Parts: sequence; structure tokens; C-alpha cells
Amino acid sequence: MPTQTQKSATLLACPDCGTQLPRPAMSARGSWRCPRCDCQLSGAWSLKPEPLLALTLASAVLWVPALTQPLLKLDKLGLDRHASLLDSVVALMHGLYLPAGLLLLFTLIIMPLINLLSAGRLLWAAHRQQPMPARPWMTLYRHSREWAMTDIFLLGILIAMTKLGDLATVTPGPGLFCLVVAVVLRLIVETLAQPEQLQRQLEAQHAPGP
Ligand SMILES: [Zn+2]
Repeated sequence: MPTQTQKSATLLACPDCGTQLPRPAMSARGSWRCPRCDCQLSGAWSLKPEPLLALTLASAVLWVPALTQPLLKLDKLGLDRHASLLDSVVALMHGLYLPAGLLLLFTLIIMPLINLLSAGRLLWAAHRQQPMPARPWMTLYRHSREWAMTDIFLLGILIAMTKLGDLATVTPGPGLFCLVVAVVLRLIVETLAQPEQLQRQLEAQHAPGP
């Protein structure tokens, strides 16, 4: 008869619906989803912390110019205007647009930065084979993946550029290039470092041997 510890080593509770599922082997390939609620429990590839940590660092470095350098340059009848992502958020913080400004601050600056920070912390622990960091890091990583919306913002910029193209000359600025690359790198890390898979890897590193 298996003991409680042996049971928890072979079974895993789905974080969304709580269904007890048998754990896949660490070497198992292919993405793995909960059969009941379709929550993704594992990516299609094995998780390698070092390259993902490097991508997270590169994305973090690119975030600085992405926030501070001009995103777009608008030129109409000799009038030349340009603004960075940070300028746009600050400009929206006044008067009627305050709620929109706060929403932008939360989804475009705070959450992506928390996402980078938590992903970096968890991948660093996986790389150094450290014990599983405190639970808040994993919670932050899970929630920031849902609330960081820079990719949607990029789509908005693309639409705005197409629409404004008829009225003025719109030139993409260096901030936009940095933002695109930073977002692509973050999406790669998010796809390859599924929270459940990362958590299992971190737990497995410090599980007592058989
Ligand atoms: Zn489920």
C-alpha cells in the first residue's frame, strides 16, 4: 500500500481544478494538458534554465530603451512629435484619462517587469539547483503571465500606424524596435517555461532520493 509521500510523488493536482493526475516522467515529450479543464501543465519541450535565463536577461536589458526611447515619430506639416512608452503613460495620468493611464501602467510596465523578475528568480534557482524559492515568486510568475499585455499593445501600435498613415508621416522609433524584440523574447520564455513544469523541475531538484 503506497504511503502519502509516495502518492504525492506520483500524483499531481491540477492548479486550476484540483484533479489528481499521474505525474509524467521527467523525460516525457509533448505538451501535457489537464483532461478536465485544459490547463497546460507542461510545454512541448524539455525545460533548460540556462538559455531561458539568458533570454530573460536580454529582454530585461532591452526594456530600458523600450521604455525610454521614442516609440513613434509623427510628422505633419512640419510639426514633429515623438513620445516614449513612459511619456505616453505619464501623459495619460492627468485628468479624465487617469483610469486608462493606471491600466497602462499596470499592464505595460508593472506586470511585464514583475514577469521578468519572477521568471529570472525561478530560472536562476533552477540553474543553481537551489531549493524551490518562496511560493510568492511562483504566484507572481503565474499572474504576471496573464496580466502583462505588451504584445496586445504592439498590435494596437500597428493598427494606429496604419490608420495615422493617411494623416501624417509615421516613423517607427528605436523604442519600438527594442519593445518588439523584448516582447518576442519574453513570449519565447513564457512558452518554454510553463509554471507547472518549472515548479516540478524545482521540486525534483530537492526531492529526497529513492
Ligand atoms: Zn484541471
